[in-house]
Amino acid sequence: MTPLDDIRARIKAACKTANRVAHDVSLVAVSKTQPQDKVETLLAQGQRLFGENRLQEACARWLPLRETYPDVKLHLIGHLQTNKANDAVALFDCIETVDSLRLADALKTAMDKQNRPLPCFIQVNTGAEPQKAGVAVNELAALLEHCRTQAKLDIQGLMCIPPAQDIPDLHFALLHKLAHEHGLPALSMGMSADFETAIRYGATHIRIGTALFGQRS
Ligand SMILES: *Cc1c(COP(=O)(O)O)cnc(C)c1O
Repeated sequence: MTPLDDIRARIKAACKTANRVAHDVSLVAVSKTQPQDKVETLLAQGQRLFGENRLQEACARWLPLRETYPDVKLHLIGHLQTNKANDAVALFDCIETVDSLRLADALKTAMDKQNRPLPCFIQVNTGAEPQKAGVAVNELAALLEHCRTQAKLDIQGLMCIPPAQDIPDLHFALLHKLAHEHGLPALSMGMSADFETAIRYGATHIRIGTALFGQRS
């Protein structure tokens, strides 16, 4: 069994336990810093949805690969600087890390300019970690309101990265509650170590790196 088959089987099993359909959970393969041959192996096995956290690295890898695999979809899962919004909108198919009014405005400007409206997620700093990106829980409502009424971004859901030292359950439950309160259907949460838990709490997008590719160098 390949790692991809194994993860797919585990997603299916977790969905069954949670009384959900596996089709509702998208596997985002996190290819950041992974060697090219491993990424190509996954492509050959049929995986088409990938996540990258750095714009520069993502461009270098995916601009050439997309010539061969035009149906690849890319999610930005790392922090984005406002001045790089244009390049990000040109490359990615979904921005999961909207976390400020300024970034929302810059993304909207870039999308308008390129006539390329992209689905977005708002990243929430559920653990209130000072070093981590994401909007504070108590500022989410204002940011979402701005995205909806001013920036007119297509916000589909919320994304979080729980603090490494915490049990993730409370963070997943909180993100689920926030998404529900605000009428957002999508939830990007769960990584290699905890995606089955995330599926139990309603994840629609799980972001898996090491369990698919092995340890990052
Ligand atoms: C690196 C990364 C992942 C993947 O983590 P693994 O533990 O390797 O599965 C998921 N989400 C984000 C935002 C990341 O930066």
